Amino acid sequence: MHIGVPREVVPGETRVALTPDEVRALAYEGHQVAVEYGAGDRAGHSDDAYLAAGAVPGTRADAFGADIVLQVHLAGAGGTMPGDAAEEDLALTRPSAVLVGLANPLSHPEPVRRLADNEVTAFSLDLLPRITRAQAMDVLSSQSAVAGYRAALIAAERLDKMLPMTTTAAGTLAPARVLVLGAGVAGLQAIATARRLGAVVRAYDIRAAAREQVESVGGVFVDLPLDTSSAEGAGGYAQAQHEEFYARQREVLGNEVAAADIVIATAQVPGRPAPVLVTEEMVRAMRPGSVVVDAAAAQGGNCAVSVADDTVVLAGVSVTAPTNLPAGAPAHASRLFARNIANFTRHLLDADGPRLDSDDPIIRDTLLTGAGRVVHPHVRELLG
Ligand code: NAD
Repeated sequence: MHIGVPREVVPGETRVALTPDEVRALAYEGHQVAVEYGAGDRAGHSDDAYLAAGAVPGTRADAFGADIVLQVHLAGAGGTMPGDAAEEDLALTRPSAVLVGLANPLSHPEPVRRLADNEVTAFSLDLLPRITRAQAMDVLSSQSAVAGYRAALIAAERLDKMLPMTTTAAGTLAPARVLVLGAGVAGLQAIATARRLGAVVRAYDIRAAAREQVESVGGVFVDLPLDTSSAEGAGGYAQAQHEEFYARQREVLGNEVAAADIVIATAQVPGRPAPVLVTEEMVRAMRPGSVVVDAAAAQGGNCAVSVADDTVVLAGVSVTAPTNLPAGAPAHASRLFARNIANFTRHLLDADGPRLDSDDPIIRDTLLTGAGRVVHPHVRELLG
């Protein structure tokens, strides 16, 4: 099979879908890989490194002319790329081409029509089921882990205090207090990172299973008087709650937020805007000099004050809302992404080309378009 890897063109993106290590493995398995010139530059991989790994560096048209095109952000989808750029990329694809990448179709279903109109077979890795068999392909987990780590570092860097307890001849400094909201993959990594830096970390998640996981990485689980009996939905994800629930949650979180030096917010509900857990009033109640890092900013944010990809300082509290945290560690984020997408590609391909069998949940759940149609039931529903 011919595999193509275009350079990522979404503003701020530094990752690359395949690293030379994965190219080497795929080339060894008999695939030919075309990598667009400069695709790995920002992740620390030169064209020469790809060449040495067995790829053929080439133009964007070479990369998009492949049988299967691997990207971080899938061409023509996701709401992250200007429409014209998306059209230009799709114009370079073959009608039967397979595209694999992140499309965020539950938040941005409309561009999926464009993929269908261009007759490509598109797979969105953000729809991968969280089942054991799919773990090696799970880009959401690998990238969330990087995101949580980066969120903790950004918070530590912005805070006007050191994180660890420090004893000097001038006295003893208490450790910083970190509150993590949402203890999924990103939240747990943020807890672990803040703990390693010496902070005291408290965390809350509406899923009951999160308690043990928070404790296992050294956090203290915050008990809130909330009815979370319907918090867990399909696939172990959080279920959207009514607005009254969130209002009550904000109320009971008030003291926790006010006492924290750092709030790292990672709470998300798949396919929904992120719940607002921290209001402007709650930010104002924090000590001047403290920090909020809103790691849910790409889905609208957990903090009412957040401005995507910007920092707002309110009453001395710095609220920062990066939408692409993994791009802050492009070498490792790309390495993990590349391993995941290479494993997905292996799973997808058999001797005759891509398998499109609807019985396999890994294929079925990620397949967006085929034969000129939007085939994913949930995305079709959203498109009406
Ligand atoms: P996510 O990014 O969708 O959400 C982040 C966290 O926010 C979740 O833990 C969620 O429960 C939490 N949340 C939502 N609303 C909240 C609220 N109002 N208050 C506080 N927290 C709130 O989640 P994720 O990190 O992608 O993980 C989702 C689930 O998938 C988790 O149960 C995780 O353990 C599981 N998972 C399973 C596998 C696997 O292969 N089996 C792999 C990765 C993750």
